[in-house]
Amino acid sequence: MGRRGPGGRSSTRRVDQDGPSMQFDHGCQFIRASDPACLEKVKEWQQKGFLRRWEGRLGMLDATTGKFSERSASGAATSTSGFCGIMGSGDIYVGMPSMDAVCQGLAAHPNLRPHWGSRVIGMRKLEDGGWELEYVAGREEHPATASHSAVVLADIMTVRSGSPGSLHLGEAAASRMVQQMGTVTASPVFSLMVCLNKGAVGPPFDSAAVSGCDSIQWIARDSSKPGRERSDGLECWVAMTTEAFARQLLEEAPLTKNGAYVAQSQQYLSELAPRIWEALWGVLQPFSSGVEQPAPVYMHAQRWGGGFKANVLSDACLIDTELGLAACGDFCGESSAQGAILSGLAAARALGESFPKAAGIAGISDSH
Ligand SMILES: Cc1cc2nc3c(=O)[nH]c(=O)nc-3n(C[C@H](O)[C@H](O)[C@H](O)COP(=O)(O)OP(=O)(O)OC[C@H]3O[C@@H](n4cnc5c(N)ncnc54)[C@H](O)[C@@H]3O)c2cc1C
Repeated sequence: MGRRGPGGRSSTRRVDQDGPSMQFDHGCQFIRASDPACLEKVKEWQQKGFLRRWEGRLGMLDATTGKFSERSASGAATSTSGFCGIMGSGDIYVGMPSMDAVCQGLAAHPNLRPHWGSRVIGMRKLEDGGWELEYVAGREEHPATASHSAVVLADIMTVRSGSPGSLHLGEAAASRMVQQMGTVTASPVFSLMVCLNKGAVGPPFDSAAVSGCDSIQWIARDSSKPGRERSDGLECWVAMTTEAFARQLLEEAPLTKNGAYVAQSQQYLSELAPRIWEALWGVLQPFSSGVEQPAPVYMHAQRWGGGFKANVLSDACLIDTELGLAACGDFCGESSAQGAILSGLAAARALGESFPKAAGIAGISDSH
């Protein structure tokens, strides 16, 4: 249970019912900034206060030997292997005090009007060259419409039937851009959020990309990130499954049934969480004083059917000036937070040049 805020795959889950308040970065764990354009943005966001460097003991764990190798921001410039390139060069940043603070901070721009919790279900070309978007706001039953000079498709889900973001694309359906987006494939991952008594597990790191393990590829002491420190004797942890383990779990409960999206129910996630916890304990147990698996104060799982993008497009972003349509996200360039930032910047530049009117006021829809 818990609430998931804005931010897409960089959102945060908060739990504040029946017990201690907790928060978990259950999707994107960090931004590794190595590209100069991304670093420039990171600097700006640090100054604005919604991003901070994560100074913890971060690195790589070989699960077969128990050996932990700590990363160095400058020393390992050639290695980007491991979860999201943690061993690659560049500093590691996190949203302050949560990953969703980045999205919220960006959306606080005076020229933007976010429609949090709205899902776009259709788009239609208008005679004046703009687009009419049809969207469902929150739990409203009836869709509303709004017109815009240009539209940005910021997720491949928008063009993929049987996904929670799929929409009626109208005149855009036959465009080259939509066809290109349709070629990108996604790989699944499950995350596990666990709250434990401090000291229940004691690995010598704050986070580690895990090698040599079939089931777990990432472990993070979420409470060690800046702004998440706790003084109540509890620690929040987040782990990610490997793609192989995620695929095995999806074989048992597929993402779609007869072509229709199957939402992840609370019951499904509660049955899944202990299985991922069991796998995580397999990695953590050698570092723990007790031989018995500790009982979590809280645990919850999250399914990310399209967690990462596999065959990303080489374009920085896609734009069709005639249609008034752009597309950007981590399906362009690199499937990472940095990739999404760079693609977003490229789309903003391209739109600003082609649609000066659109650069003024925009609406943002985010289904989560
Ligand atoms: C579990 C997990 C851990 C990760 N960890 C890391 C990490 O540590 N470091 C790293 O660099 N990367 C990491 N990634 C990848 C990173 O999160 C993504 O690359 C990045 O967040 C992509 O951003 P985006 O804006 O392209 O897409 P998204 O964040 O997915 O945003 C797309 C948005 O569009 C919305 N949307 C889709 N369809 C509609 C619709 N019809 N109407 C309205 N809104 C719609 C979605 O709800 C979503 O909010 C991780 C990913 C996952 C799943």
